[in-house]
Amino acid sequence: METTAAFVGLSCIDCGERFDPDANRCPACGGILDPAYDYGVIDLTREELAERPFDSMWRYEELLPFPRESAITIEEGATPLVECEKLAAEMGVGRVLIKDEGRNPTGSFKDRGQTVAMTAAAQQGASDVALASAGNAGQAAAAYAGRADIDAHVFLPSRAGFTNKAMVNVHGGDMTVVGGRIGDAGAAYADAMAEEGESEGWHSVGTFVTPYRHEGKKTMAYETIEQLDWEVPDAVVYPTGGGVGLVGMHKAATELRELGLIDELPAMYAAQSSGCAPIVEAFEAGKDRHEPVEHPDTICGGIEIPDPGASPWILECLRESGGGAVATDDEEILESAIGVAKGEGVEMGATCAAAASGAWKLADEGEFGADDTVVLLNTATSNKDSDVLRSHLMGKGI
Ligand SMILES: *Cc1c(COP(=O)(O)O)cnc(C)c1O
Ligand SMILES: [Zn+2]
Repeated sequence: METTAAFVGLSCIDCGERFDPDANRCPACGGILDPAYDYGVIDLTREELAERPFDSMWRYEELLPFPRESAITIEEGATPLVECEKLAAEMGVGRVLIKDEGRNPTGSFKDRGQTVAMTAAAQQGASDVALASAGNAGQAAAAYAGRADIDAHVFLPSRAGFTNKAMVNVHGGDMTVVGGRIGDAGAAYADAMAEEGESEGWHSVGTFVTPYRHEGKKTMAYETIEQLDWEVPDAVVYPTGGGVGLVGMHKAATELRELGLIDELPAMYAAQSSGCAPIVEAFEAGKDRHEPVEHPDTICGGIEIPDPGASPWILECLRESGGGAVATDDEEILESAIGVAKGEGVEMGATCAAAASGAWKLADEGEFGADDTVVLLNTATSNKDSDVLRSHLMGKGI
């Protein structure tokens, strides 16, 4: 495989063993694999980065496993960081900024994970990729696979959004819609993988199976910190499902510190819906691992992940960064999405609004200081679930 100079292979986060770039889960213990680098060979300065156009997440290629010229890319990333003065005043903090990931090629930050995962799959000569997804990752995978002339097998639950399903078809993906929720789609994916996938050489681009999705999503932190002129935000509030982007962003901040580009780490906050909040429950109970949620029930499909396998890592990132975890009700989440769209013009998806609603709650609880800079992740555009937001208004007689 064609890799960058600093990338030295994949490290197991559980047993610490090192493996080649084509591994998936740890062959020794089954743990999650994390791309590792020799930071000593990376010579990046703030000035050097300032000279590069802000055009794609691949502008940080020294800190990615694969060179930009080999990437399966649709020019993802390089999204705006939108100043929200009204939100800052309402929350009583110095600044609130929304990292607007809705401006990605398929309308969500899942593109950042899929560009790296698909580049890895293409370099391994994959003919097929497969995953189970709540919706956005499946749509992104279908888009990137199409571009790479790879067949995508996408397993979605019936409650995935219409746009997600439609666009998997439009991108030419092979879609299986499974009655139920993400766990049911995951079971159908596992069956298909065992029956035909493994014999036909399907490559998984699923959450924390491929080691490259969090690696792509980490670029959100590089961009945010650079967009703030290297001022590290005091808090980053992240709508958390599998935690892929949260661990990625925390990793990215530690890398920038390792390279001497920043001194502090942003406090990472996981925001969830109270209808499915395994990370918040584990964080509040002081536990190192979550308890699976037996009856998840939230309108926020993107974060309805009742059994997040990476919970020990997520909890470690929250604690190590001095952050926390917060859950709010769907009603408050939908109100927040509508409030942000109305007051700031930013179209925040229903799932993503858990970050806004969670930030409001944290602000009410006095978690932020009056001068704090708070960054909210708008992980997907509200165009994908405008029907959900509109019907919330209808429920109120509007
Ligand atoms: C997938 C998804 C999330 C959760 O992302 P993780 O990084 O897996 O926690 C949040 N918001 C939206 C819109 C998503 O599609
Ligand atoms: Zn291991």
